[in-house]
Amino acid sequence: MSKVLIIGAGGVGTVVAYKCAQNREVFDEIVIASRTKSKCDAIAAKIGADNITTDRVDADNVDELCELLRRHRPDIVINVALPYQDLTIMEACLACGVNYLDTANYEPKDEAHFEYSWQWAYRERFEKAGLTAILGCGFDPGVSAVFTAYAAKHYFSAMETLDIVDCNAGDHGKAFATNFNPEINIREITQNGRYWQDGKWITTGPLEIHTDLTYPNIGKRDSYLLYHEELESLVQNFPTIKRARFWMTFGQEYLTHLRVIQNIGMARIDEVEYNGVKIVPLQFLKAVLPNPQDLGENYHGETSIGCRIAGKGKDGKEMTYYIYNNCSHEAAYKETGMQAVSYTTGVPAMIGAMMFLTGKWNKPGVHNVEEFDPDPFMEQLPKQGLPWCEVINGDLEVDKIG
Ligand code: NDP
Repeated sequence: MSKVLIIGAGGVGTVVAYKCAQNREVFDEIVIASRTKSKCDAIAAKIGADNITTDRVDADNVDELCELLRRHRPDIVINVALPYQDLTIMEACLACGVNYLDTANYEPKDEAHFEYSWQWAYRERFEKAGLTAILGCGFDPGVSAVFTAYAAKHYFSAMETLDIVDCNAGDHGKAFATNFNPEINIREITQNGRYWQDGKWITTGPLEIHTDLTYPNIGKRDSYLLYHEELESLVQNFPTIKRARFWMTFGQEYLTHLRVIQNIGMARIDEVEYNGVKIVPLQFLKAVLPNPQDLGENYHGETSIGCRIAGKGKDGKEMTYYIYNNCSHEAAYKETGMQAVSYTTGVPAMIGAMMFLTGKWNKPGVHNVEEFDPDPFMEQLPKQGLPWCEVINGDLEVDKIG
């Protein structure tokens, strides 16, 4: 018998709850807890399963979290609140003997800074407590790293270049909206770009490098080099990688809005005084932008996310490998009421928890997903709604750039 506690009732939390409920043989009992309990109640009512209960928690507060964990005694927490809450939830899990999984690395609120050091610092404590913490188990990070581990296990003797390519070719009909939490999304995109080259990080200006890449079933899309957190753990865990980069597509309309938002100071994350109250402009902007959870209804088109890898195959010969998933916004919405970006994050988070609960990814300590056996996870992906395809020795396009 196993019990899962989902913290966060946003777009991703909704998908996680749906998918856990669909896999009752693994998740006997499901608790959804978040800052606003009514949102948890709405999700539970929509799913309509009799094994879901809801609760309220301020996940910034370790004592409140401990009370929640003691009340429900879950086997694992799936943290799909915001990256700001990662450390408080990890602390509470340690205090109460609960295993942990998340989809985004910790970020301090006052600095858009992406690195695993804060969470890796918990390695010894989780190991000593006999608890497993699984970091970055969404799509990217998440499936992107599992794809890389799968390539290493089955195809390559030495991977040399890795390009993670993330395309959203969907259209939601809005002039400007982000596909997940706007505050987190805009912080990520407006920072400097960064990639790994010959043993060191190269920094670029924000969205400085871009190129057309061709995505399956979609076509050519302008793709921008960003820093993305999984690069940090992947180059450590696969040290033969000489160059690792991350690309994401953006339309011109989106980028024009983003530029204006930055130019007028609305992307600021420091406090400003407004009518005697302190507000953070980016948090205020979030309040007036479309809610990512409401984008699903008229969202058309697909996402396509994958890994393009080159290196030496198991036979020592040069080879290329492209592995990807395409996910339809319409199909995701039909199944869960959420668009494909929430869907592609929530499904892997559920599968990660399933891997832990079925004993396949049970390894005390704090681990990024590529440190586990990719095979049972890869087997579940198509069964749970995210089929994947492989192209061997095709043109990766990425060597024509830079
Ligand atoms: P949302 O903003 O839609 O949802 C966040 C939820 O967390 C809300 O229910 C919110 O509550 C709750 N929350 C926020 N602060 C607290 C708190 N202090 N205590 C309790 N609950 C809190 O975000 P998304 O669902 O879009 O994203 C969820 C996570 O998934 C994020 O960390 C994001 O970075 C990550 N992500 C990962 C991806 C990947 O591929 N790895 C891709 C996309 C997202 P309230 O409703 O009250 O505000």
